[in-house]
Amino acid sequence: MKSCVIRAALLAALSFASAATVRADAPPPAVPAPALYTNPKAPVEARVSDLLRRLNPDEKLNLLALDGSLQTHAVPRLNIPPFRMADAPNGVRDGQSTAFPLGISLASTWNPALVRQVGVALGQECLGHNRQVLFGPCVNIHRTPQGGRNGESFSEDPFLTAEMTVAYIDGIQSQGVSACVKHFAFNNQETQRHSINIDVDERTMREIELPGFEAAFRRAHTWSTMAAFNQLNGTYITANANLLQNTLEREWKWDGFVVSDWGAIHETAGAINAGTDLELPTPAYFTPAHLQEALDKKQITFATIDERIRRLLRAMVRTGQLDGPRTANPKLINTPAHQVLARKAAQQGIVLLKNAGGLLPLDRHKIKSIAVVGPNANPNQMGGRWSADVVPFYSISPLDGLKTKAGTAITVNYAGGASAPFQDAIDAAKKSDVAIVVVGLNKNLEGEELDPPDLNLPAGQDDLIQAVAAANKNTIVVLVNGTPILTDKWIGKVPGLIEAWYPGQEAGNAIADVLFGDVNPSGKLTDTIGFKRDDYSDLPNYPGTNGTVKYAEGIYVGYRHFDKAKIAPQFPFGYGLSYTTFAYSNLKVPGVLKPNQPPQVSFVVQNTGKRAGAEIAQLYVHDMAPKVDRPLRELKGFARVSLAPGQKSVVTIPLDDRAFAYYNVALKKWKTNPGRYEIQVGASSRDTRLKGLITLS
Ligand code: BGC
Repeated sequence: MKSCVIRAALLAALSFASAATVRADAPPPAVPAPALYTNPKAPVEARVSDLLRRLNPDEKLNLLALDGSLQTHAVPRLNIPPFRMADAPNGVRDGQSTAFPLGISLASTWNPALVRQVGVALGQECLGHNRQVLFGPCVNIHRTPQGGRNGESFSEDPFLTAEMTVAYIDGIQSQGVSACVKHFAFNNQETQRHSINIDVDERTMREIELPGFEAAFRRAHTWSTMAAFNQLNGTYITANANLLQNTLEREWKWDGFVVSDWGAIHETAGAINAGTDLELPTPAYFTPAHLQEALDKKQITFATIDERIRRLLRAMVRTGQLDGPRTANPKLINTPAHQVLARKAAQQGIVLLKNAGGLLPLDRHKIKSIAVVGPNANPNQMGGRWSADVVPFYSISPLDGLKTKAGTAITVNYAGGASAPFQDAIDAAKKSDVAIVVVGLNKNLEGEELDPPDLNLPAGQDDLIQAVAAANKNTIVVLVNGTPILTDKWIGKVPGLIEAWYPGQEAGNAIADVLFGDVNPSGKLTDTIGFKRDDYSDLPNYPGTNGTVKYAEGIYVGYRHFDKAKIAPQFPFGYGLSYTTFAYSNLKVPGVLKPNQPPQVSFVVQNTGKRAGAEIAQLYVHDMAPKVDRPLRELKGFARVSLAPGQKSVVTIPLDDRAFAYYNVALKKWKTNPGRYEIQVGASSRDTRLKGLITLS
């Protein structure tokens, strides 16, 4: 306070001096120093404070909503350019950009280093488009397998989600572009997303949905977040002071800025006071007139407005937006390096689910013809309805990719297989050595505001698969989709199954690379795939009644539920095959530990097959004698290990302070109980290869 007064007095003296008459023999007036806020070398908070002082009240009120074109209002008087934002998590939606794989595909790589590279590329493409904020990553938990945007986000598991989230944000922000982690929080279904009330207990919040966000705020230090549409325990998120202030600001000490999802604000004072900083996409409640009215009625204070502006300016400083004029740079968009990266990410996100008799990889020396059939063979389906519908410069469909791979040596017999009795597909399958059926969903069947109606393939596709399988015993199914697909009707009739998810612009090349063995598949499932819809824990409480959905399953989401209810999944969480095999040995765990002494676990993985490949080794923790309700196992570490044939490697996985902890609601903190914990290391949640005991004293 004192320094403010002195500074104000100095400023007043300076302006008086400049107004005074200048004597003829006086030295020429000094060139005024550039304003502090424009100085890139000055500390962030000093620049923010300096600019905040210079903005007048009208300019401030005008800054709290966008100008209608995904950017804030410029302040020409102070040379403040607009702060420019863009969708989406998988590519920049501003004209054309590289379309990277959707979130579930990225997460299926279990490769944070690769996801970080994708983040870097996204950051560069934002700079290319002169955008300072990207609305991603999307990190909502897959509570229901019918979540229309599950494809955009990562997983049913909070640990995996958190690791992916940190890698992605770290990548983007390394380029000086703000990530905007979304949708904070509990946007876990699209049905009634604009109003649905999430009734969830504190422990479930902390252990299932929030860890991804907490990691974004506390570990990755995301510079912004998007407040979700829905309500949480009776209050819209945009007006939920408990979440936005108590948790986010006070407990997690986060200082970034909060934007609303599209039209997610329903009141002026409540939202401003709760901690929403910016109304998107156009002013409805944060108009200068509404804000002034709320000020006049003393529903809000100017100190609160200042705090909202301060958080926005902080991000403008952090992204270099106040460092001088910037222009778009198309050379940063869809570069050859980004195209290669998009293909690599797509390859690593593909999950091989079945390979009976070693039909795959296809042997190009033996195969003379392949049938490529099915609705998702062509054109390429990239998912991402609406906001994640990135427009690429090119897009390789599975048919394109397979044709290129086949070259002139292998004949490709294509048939759309559009309608029963699928004669075109059957004919193509009959005259080919191998039949590849590409089926699944698309952005008109799942995505924003659209939960798929069930987990079945769209009408006719199950029959198409069976018709082709009857015509050609070497039938391989390739799924392109974002939510799990039930395969029980035909899984026993086909020797090969690949889950490709939505692999982006390089989909076809990546799928062909895997089918022909140029790439050994290494992706693993980030969601459990059940035998039937009834197997999932959300079903009795999906999509809710009377506008509320009760998360009655508590912490038992995904494999936590399948384990507890002793339901065998069709394909377990963490599952995925390779063209080689891996052996696990030599688990080393520290015997006895103090609870605050996070351990390291090590073991050996060896490639026991004939091809180079990568294994995703997973570490689960099991409380042997829980004093509170605990899942049977929880993922607490993983490592992706690339090995040549015969090669072995020691894998070390550090465990963090949450590895043995649960959220204690009474204490309002994470707590680790002393006791014995089993460390389970293996190839999936249901394929434990090594076990060891840790005793926490
Ligand atoms: C989506 C957001 C998206 C926004 C802008 C909303 O409908 O929920 O994820 O960023 O639209 O396109």
